[in-house]
Order: sequence, then C-alpha cells, then structure tokens
Amino acid sequence: MSTAGQKIDEVEAAVERLVSQSLADLRADFPALDQQVNGHPLAYLDNAATTHKPRQVIEAVANYYERDNSNVHRGVHELSQRATLAFEAAREKVRAFINAASKDEIVFTRGTTEAINLVANAWGGEGVAAGDEILITELEHHSNIVPWQMLAQRSGAVVKVAPINDAGELELEALADLLSPRTRMVALNYVSNTLGSINPVAEVVRLAHDAGALVLVDAAQATPHLAVDVQELGCDFLAFSGHKVYGPTGIGALFGRAELLEAMPPWQGGGDMIEQVSFSGSSYAHPPARFEAGTPNVAGVVGLGAAIDYLECAGIERVATHEHELLNYAEGRLREIPGLRIVGTAAEKTGAHSFVVEGVHPHDIGTVLDSFGVAIRAGHHCTQPLMERLGLVATARASFALYSNHDDVDRLIDALLKLTELFGDG
Ligand code: PLP
Repeated sequence: MSTAGQKIDEVEAAVERLVSQSLADLRADFPALDQQVNGHPLAYLDNAATTHKPRQVIEAVANYYERDNSNVHRGVHELSQRATLAFEAAREKVRAFINAASKDEIVFTRGTTEAINLVANAWGGEGVAAGDEILITELEHHSNIVPWQMLAQRSGAVVKVAPINDAGELELEALADLLSPRTRMVALNYVSNTLGSINPVAEVVRLAHDAGALVLVDAAQATPHLAVDVQELGCDFLAFSGHKVYGPTGIGALFGRAELLEAMPPWQGGGDMIEQVSFSGSSYAHPPARFEAGTPNVAGVVGLGAAIDYLECAGIERVATHEHELLNYAEGRLREIPGLRIVGTAAEKTGAHSFVVEGVHPHDIGTVLDSFGVAIRAGHHCTQPLMERLGLVATARASFALYSNHDDVDRLIDALLKLTELFGDG
C-alpha cells in the first residue's frame, strides 16, 4: 500500500508527464479510441454529443469505488470522511475551473439539463409573474428552451426568441431590442452545439444587466473548448456537463451567484438539503446543500474532478489552439466534397462543423460513414427550432476534442468521397 508521500510523488509525476506531453501523445490516454469499428480503426467525431474518458478519469472512479465508496456529509467513519473530502475537493476544482468566487456557488447536478431545470424551477418559482419575459435565442438546445416554456406555462410568463443571421451568428441589436423592463432572464448558450457559433456572452450580459435582467449561460459546449470565467463574463448562472469535458455521464454543475442561490427556495426535498426537520415543518440548509437533495453521484463528482485536473494539465489554451487549427483544416477539406454545404459559418466558431450533402439524407451520411468506422452525428441535434429557422430537418455534424487529429479529418473526407460516389451512381 502506498504512503501519502508516495501518492503525492505519483500524482506530481503524472502531472509532469501530462504537461510535458504533446496533445498528440495524450490520445493514448483514451482507451476507447483504440478500437476497430466495422473493420476500420475508429475515427470518433461525435465529441459534441459526448467525449471519451482518459484512463486517469476511469481510474479515479474505479479507485473511489475500490477504496473510498461511502456516503458523503453523514458518516463519522474513515471511508465517509474520505468520500466527503474527495467530493468537496472536486467542488473546489469546479470552482477554480470556471473561476467562481466561492465554492458555495457550485451546485452539483446531473448535467446541464438538470442545472437549467433547477434554475427554471427554484428561481423561476419565486416571483416570475404573468407577463414577465424570458429571452432565449434561436440557437438553443432543447434543454435551454423547454424548461423556460414549462415555467411560462406555470407562471403566465412569455418566452421571446432573439434571432440569428444566416451564418448562425446572434443578432445582437435585435436581442437588445427584445429586452424590456419585463425581461427577467436571458438564457443563451455560449457555443452552439449544432453550428459551433461562439456567442458574445459578455456583451449579452452587459445588455441584459442594463435592462435589469439576469443571465443564464448554457456552457455545455464551451467548457470543452474555451477557458470559461464566470467573473469575467459577469453572468448570474452557468451550467455545464461533465461528460462533455472528458468526465463521467450523469454529473455536471450549476454556478449561481451567491446572493441569488441564497434567495432561492429548494426545488427538491430530501436528505442533505435540510437544516431541521419536524412534522410541523422543515428549514433548509444554505446553498449549495439546499439544492443537492439525496445521495449525490459521488463517483461522478470524483470523476469530474479528475477530468478537470486532466483538462487543466493538457492546458485549455493549448486545446483551444489545436482544435481551432483542426476546425480550419476540416473546413478546407470539407469544401473538397462535391455537393457538400457547411451549415453555420459564423466568424467565431469552435468544436464542430455541421453540413449537408445534396441529395443525401443526413441519416444516410451517418450510416455510410459508420460503415467506414467514422462516427459522426446526424439529426436535429436537439435543436429542432434552429433546424426550422435554417429550413432543414437535419444536418450531419463532425465535432472535435483535444485528441482529434488530421487523420480523423482525412478519414471523414475519404468516407464522404466514397459516399458521394455511391449516391452519385444511384
Ligand atoms: N446544451 C447544449 C448546448 C448541449 O450541447 C447539450 C448536450 O448536447 C445540453 C445543453 C444538454 O446537456 P446534458 O444532456 O449533458 O444535460
């Protein structure tokens, strides 16, 4: 059994190895990438849906179950204390990852979807009145549309939608025009999962705050690709998912400004979120515990902490530069394909290219590419209203991660060329 000193040495050595390695070498940390699919080596380009996990994350989760598995915040025994320490250490890692002022501003959730629902219910339940307005954008994922529509149904509030231009960029002036004294919340994504557009979030925050509205940022597609700083953005809430930043599924986080969380009622009741319970009534714990009812996903939290460590060692700036170069390379190569049109040509993009090929349904593109071991996404990407705005039912989407490389892109292009031969003949 290793002593604490040995353990620290091991961790320092692992960090040193990660920091000194090139991104290309880090690919070997991801076991799932090393497999054959339909007789071909896997080229995984569905990273906007979920990323693969490095060994370091898989081992952190396994170690937790093998050594520390226990419930948190409750037990006085050694294992429970270890689990609690690991759980709260991960909260501090999330705080630092998005530069929140305090770790009490970090609530663990199942992911982005649950985080937005939490705000729509807990914040939305208090004083959003008939006629109040929630402003979203045409770029939103269903998880940043439906919770607000449900709130509107309950409260009589109105959901308004800021438009985009044909390139997939937010129309800032139109957004500003839609702000009114009744606007209570502006909810928008930082990066579009479908088009890869990067939204000018800091600018939107400024406009919204001037109008007296709060801002919730859906950062599900930003945290994997950009350095996210909630204090610099000035946002009031921000949500992200662990599984899109190389962590486990079923875990994510909500950032909420301390005074807002403090003023919000709980949205789920149960263990761990109370101060005192009696049959005549209950009082509630301070945030973040107030919003974390029940046994949490401790292994997920530990894995998320390990994923953040991994991403920080890889270096988010280095990842952003690499992915930007790859996105440009992919754009150039996609333009070689006859009949292919890139959907979403915003000046500021990251992470993904959506495209359509004349005469071929996106699902057929996905199926043919899969037969060559190339994994992409085809469909509406949980953005049906955006598809409608673009006059499409679906697109194909190739999306990138820190381990993606030129070979993945070349494999995509080779498979697309075969697809066009196939459909060209038909
Ligand atoms: N928002 C955006 C922009 C997304 O891309 C996704 C997932 O694809 C979500 C929200 C929902 O994330 P999750 O399913 O992890 O809750």
